[in-house]
Amino acid sequence: MSEKEHKKTIKEISPIDIYKSLPKTNCGECQEANCMAFATRVVNGELTIDNCPPLINNTKYRVAYEKLLRLMAPPVKTITVGTGDRAIKIGGKYVLYRHEFTYHNPTPIAIDVADDLTKDERDARVKMISSFDYTYIGRNLRLDAIAIRSTLHDPDAFASTVKDVAYQTDLPFILCTYDPAIMAAGLAPVKERRPLLYAATRDNWKEMAELALQYHCPLVVSAPHDIALLRSLVKTLVEYGVSDLVLDPGTSVDPNLAATIQDFSRIRRSVFQQNDELLGYPLLGTPITAWLSPEISPDVLRWKEACIASMLISRYADMLIMHSLEGWVLLPQMIWRFNIYTDPRKPVAVEAGVRIMGSPDRRSPVLITTNYALTFFTVESDIKSANIDCYLIIADTGGNSVESAVAGRLLTAGTIANALQEFNVADLVDHRHLIIPGLAARLSGETEEASGWHVIVGPKDSSGIAELLKTRWPPKDAPANTSGV
Ligand code: SF4
Repeated sequence: MSEKEHKKTIKEISPIDIYKSLPKTNCGECQEANCMAFATRVVNGELTIDNCPPLINNTKYRVAYEKLLRLMAPPVKTITVGTGDRAIKIGGKYVLYRHEFTYHNPTPIAIDVADDLTKDERDARVKMISSFDYTYIGRNLRLDAIAIRSTLHDPDAFASTVKDVAYQTDLPFILCTYDPAIMAAGLAPVKERRPLLYAATRDNWKEMAELALQYHCPLVVSAPHDIALLRSLVKTLVEYGVSDLVLDPGTSVDPNLAATIQDFSRIRRSVFQQNDELLGYPLLGTPITAWLSPEISPDVLRWKEACIASMLISRYADMLIMHSLEGWVLLPQMIWRFNIYTDPRKPVAVEAGVRIMGSPDRRSPVLITTNYALTFFTVESDIKSANIDCYLIIADTGGNSVESAVAGRLLTAGTIANALQEFNVADLVDHRHLIIPGLAARLSGETEEASGWHVIVGPKDSSGIAELLKTRWPPKDAPANTSGV
């Protein structure tokens, strides 16, 4: 058997495999209790071996470090685009299917800026791309890169555009032209920022390879709808010395969208089922090609671009270039990406504890909910929008929603009583009235017995909290002047 056939998959690597090559000093510099705990977290994908400082800083561990790098190398190589805080990592996939292991490196979305825009148009577009920001259950969803396209086919115009855009933003770039002379002109102003070069083809691969090697930039290899050619170009470029590659198998809209998805899937299956290392690089999808469709309505083109993007995020694009900047096109992609790249083994949770909402005093209401992120942020949003001053207890239910937590006995009278005690809620207020979610109504009697607090059953939907407080707060036996809304 060859060495390649012996390489373990991520599912076969055990903590012992990692531990054997660690320093085994249990020094704690990684913030873990010991080396075995660190190895376990590496296998789970929660840490990387670079989080062990002695391993990377002490030359006596160099051989062990390189052995671990080989052991942990993902079948789809990780490529870095850009530098500094905004650099993006693409690829780095360990598995074909998400249920096998967490997906890493969420698909970055780059938005195009063409060099035929006026300065005002370009400035406005760059500003919109850089400032696009949407908060979704506590996470900031943002755009990741700018794809600067040469449409005038003029080296000076391209260089001037790149320079101008680079001055305005620290986002990573994709420089887009098939002409090596134009690429060289565009690279000059941003050569220190490690842009992704788009693209090497069968006609220009040597000149593009020279630029990639000279400036240490990753390079896209493009062979639309010809996987054999794509593979052959990769082989040639790797032998030429270019190792940081990104594959563009072509993105078609009409009538070949199905063929596009099949190409992306075939390439990924070749990597994971046939161990084809030549195709083990990140895949670039270009939903922007929707704008080549002969449609009259821009909204139809946007809709097509959105559909292609979401399909490619699912199968198996590691980076996208898009054109639309409308929220209704981009937000579904970002939320879909967020969901796919969330660890399926762990519900998205927030930290348990007491949140102070507004400016509560000792007469303010006390409410309780679970630590499932979507539940918490929905309740928080409803409380804030109604300007309610209160204490909100977040019970640790393992990241489960109220209904699931009650059904799974993760939210019980006992856990509610424990939360009240653990977070010293009695010290915050003079009353003993607790508002529980309507979906946990069946716990009310037991909770009164277990905690000694009087329970008020709240609404099933947190949008009804303000109305509940209007009619039920202050409770009749609460201290005078108990306030709420
Ligand atoms: S930093 Fe490295 S050597 Fe120290 S405990 Fe962590 S894994 Fe072990």
